[in-house]
Amino acid sequence: MAEVNGVQDIVNALAKEVDGSRINITSDVEADSQDEVEVNGHIGAEGSKNKKKKKKKKNSKAKKVAIIKPNEGKIPEEIPAPPPETYEETARWEKEIVKGAKTYNIPAWGLLNDRARTVLDTFRTPSCKKIELLTPRLRLRQVETGDLTGIRRIKMEPIVQKTQLYGSPGLSDIKDSFLNRYIRSSIPRISNISGSKGRDEYIFAITALDPATLKVQDPGQIRISHRISNAEGYLGNIALSLTYPSESPSFLPQKGKIFTQPTFNEFEKQEIEGKLFYETHPQLWGQGIMSQAFEEVLRFGMEELGCDSIACDPTVGNEASIHLCIKNGFIYSHMTNNIYNKPQLFHRMTREEWWKRNRPNQEISDKWGGKEVCRWCMNFRLASPSINCHHCKWAKYCSRECQKADWVRSNGHQVECDFDEGS
Ligand SMILES: [Zn+2]
Ligand SMILES: [Zn+2]
Repeated sequence: MAEVNGVQDIVNALAKEVDGSRINITSDVEADSQDEVEVNGHIGAEGSKNKKKKKKKKNSKAKKVAIIKPNEGKIPEEIPAPPPETYEETARWEKEIVKGAKTYNIPAWGLLNDRARTVLDTFRTPSCKKIELLTPRLRLRQVETGDLTGIRRIKMEPIVQKTQLYGSPGLSDIKDSFLNRYIRSSIPRISNISGSKGRDEYIFAITALDPATLKVQDPGQIRISHRISNAEGYLGNIALSLTYPSESPSFLPQKGKIFTQPTFNEFEKQEIEGKLFYETHPQLWGQGIMSQAFEEVLRFGMEELGCDSIACDPTVGNEASIHLCIKNGFIYSHMTNNIYNKPQLFHRMTREEWWKRNRPNQEISDKWGGKEVCRWCMNFRLASPSINCHHCKWAKYCSRECQKADWVRSNGHQVECDFDEGS
């Protein structure tokens, strides 16, 4: 498809994307003026072209030196297991998690309608929502249904749409396509992509730790209904999408096996690549917000998930985003035209490159790989699962909520469990 002509085309295009042909969803970003650092030798194949485009900064006369500031983010401590259940709690859960309990499907569309709410609340367990990243100024949390207004403000803004690839989506498309997808991404067992081999996406809402410290700029040309007056709530998002090659074995929980977090070696063997997508509200551009979010999600992908490499492909002309890639050590490799016929500049960084730059003199280490993990939320930052299925030895969960979700999912654990005789 070369162009997006109408709402239906957008929906079709997005549905296609959800089906598996990945495209860049967003790629605007602010220039980060505060911590700008020039890095030598970054220009790659497009060298002369980029050099020409680059404008000298007016206020910096001194020649900049290549300084690489190692990433200061840290792997958090494991979240401890919940306290043991009381007798009453056990009795209550055992009434719900019984043979023959009704099962549910999560709808492809209409996930956020009231009718689907109970299903969503059952499948999106507290530990599904618990993955969050912190930076000095930001909290990157899972997207909530209440983020619709914030998402709409960004996606419907013409300045933002210039750097996006899908034209100008209407409100209902934003709800059905974007919010649906963002929310769904926090339930790893309910994939956005059919035939998926593992968790497909981590999508984080960007929020301020202290909204008062962020500067909301003069709105300029921004449409009245899209302006913001403070930096509270949803400010944008940043996503890490994972691509599993078709020949790769599945990294999802398997029948008969205790689920363990994939190791760096396993990811390396299959060359599992991550890809970053991001956007923030234009009134917050220029103060390094995306820069912090980008660095942290990159760290998470490299140091905790163990991606073999991570890519990023800003559209041509999106200088701030291109700069962000380069500043973080990505190397330009090639230009591609996407399905909307917009050229994108493909940049990439390997795990080794990230480690060398950000963990100098340290061996690559894999904190979570190989650890037993809940087979529903797959949240590897939680203590190893303490809830076991009564009927089999291999289904383990971090919480009753997760156990129940897997139990009442269509084709979920009720189907795969090998019930003991007499149970
Ligand atoms: Zn869990
Ligand atoms: Zn079982």
